[in-house]
Amino acid sequence: MSDFGTFFLPGPTEVRRDVLEAMLAPMLPHRGAIFEALFARIQDGLRPVFRTTRPVYVSSSSATGLMEAAIRCAAPGPILCMVNGAFSERFANIALACGRETRVVGGDWHQAVPLDVVESALRERRYAAITVVHSETSTGTLTSLPELAALAHQYDTAVLVDSVTGVGGVPVETDAWDLDFVLTGSQKALALPPGLAFGVASQRYIDQASQATARGLYFDMVEFEEFVHKNQTPSTPAISLLYATAVQGEHIARETIEARWARHTTMAEMTHAWVRSLREETGEPFCVYAPDHARSGTVTAIALPATLKGDDIVKGVARRGFVIGGGYGKLKSSTFRIGHMGDHTPDRLALCLDATADTIRELLAK
Ligand SMILES: *Cc1c(COP(=O)(O)O)cnc(C)c1O
Repeated sequence: MSDFGTFFLPGPTEVRRDVLEAMLAPMLPHRGAIFEALFARIQDGLRPVFRTTRPVYVSSSSATGLMEAAIRCAAPGPILCMVNGAFSERFANIALACGRETRVVGGDWHQAVPLDVVESALRERRYAAITVVHSETSTGTLTSLPELAALAHQYDTAVLVDSVTGVGGVPVETDAWDLDFVLTGSQKALALPPGLAFGVASQRYIDQASQATARGLYFDMVEFEEFVHKNQTPSTPAISLLYATAVQGEHIARETIEARWARHTTMAEMTHAWVRSLREETGEPFCVYAPDHARSGTVTAIALPATLKGDDIVKGVARRGFVIGGGYGKLKSSTFRIGHMGDHTPDRLALCLDATADTIRELLAK
C-alpha cells in the first residue's frame, strides 16, 4: 500500500515489495554476458505467460509503443480495425497515424465486434492485418480470439492483438491460437511498474515485416527479432525495469500461469456478484457494463444510476484507502472501473469492494 492507497486501478497495478526492491540493483552494461543472462531469465519467465515458443520482445516504452510497432511492421496493405471501446479506437487511430489505409468495423461499445461483421469486411477485399483489443479496458469486454484468428487466416490476414489487460490475467494462447502479434504492457496484469512493453510475433509476421517500408527505426520488429536471439535489445533498455521483470517472472512461475488465470476468474466473478448484490440492496440499476459471456477477468466497468458520478465514487473510495478507476473516454462519468488484476487476492479485493459499497451507500443517502 502506497501513500495513495492500495491500487485497484486498471493500471498501473499494485507492485510487490521485492519486485520494487529488485530495481535498486546497480547498472550493468547492456552488451555482454551478464546482461544476456538477465535477458534469458526474462525470456524464461515470459514465454509461459504468452504460451509461446517464440521469443518475447522487450520494448522500453509503454504498451502504445508496441501497438504502433505492430502496425508499422505489418505486411503492406490496408488494416481492418475492430472497435468496441477507447483502446480499440486508439489502435485504429494509430493505423491512420502511420499512414495505413484503415477501415473500422463495429463501433458498439456494448459488445465484442460480431464475427460476421468482420467476415463480410474480409470478403469485400483483402486486408494485410486486423487489429483487435482482447480485453477492452474502457468497458471490461473480452473478445474471443481463437475463432477470429481462424477466420482471418482463411483470408490471409494477420491478427494483431492488444492484450494489454489480458496477458498474465486471462488465457492467451499465442501459439495454439496462431496469433500474429500479441502485445502487453508491464503495468497491468503482470503487476510490474510502467515503462516496458512485451510482444510476440509469429514467424509468418516477422518474415513479411521486411516488406513493410515504413517500419521506422525505434520500433523496427525485424531488428528486435535479430537482437532477441542474442538475448539483447536493439537500443539501451530500461535496465532497472528488467531486474523487476526477472523477479516477477519467477513469482509467476511459482504460482503457475494457470493458477493466475483461475485467481483472476475468481476475482472477476466476485466483482460481478458484488454488483448484483449492490443492485438488490439499493434498488438502483447498477450493472456490469460488459455483456454476459464476454467479460474480462481483469477489469470490470460498472454502469451507474444517473444520480451518481464515477468521479465521486473514486474520491470516496480513495478516502477509504483504495484507488479505483473512473470511467474512460465517453463512459467517464456514467461508469467506474475496478481493476482486479495483477497480484491481488480475493481477500484484498473484498476489502476494496466493501469500501466501494460504503462509499455508494453514503452518496445515495445524500
Ligand atoms: C493501458 C492500455 C493501453 C495503453 O497502455 P500504455 O502502457 O499506457 O501505452 C492500451 N491498450 C489497453 C487495452 C490498455 O488497457
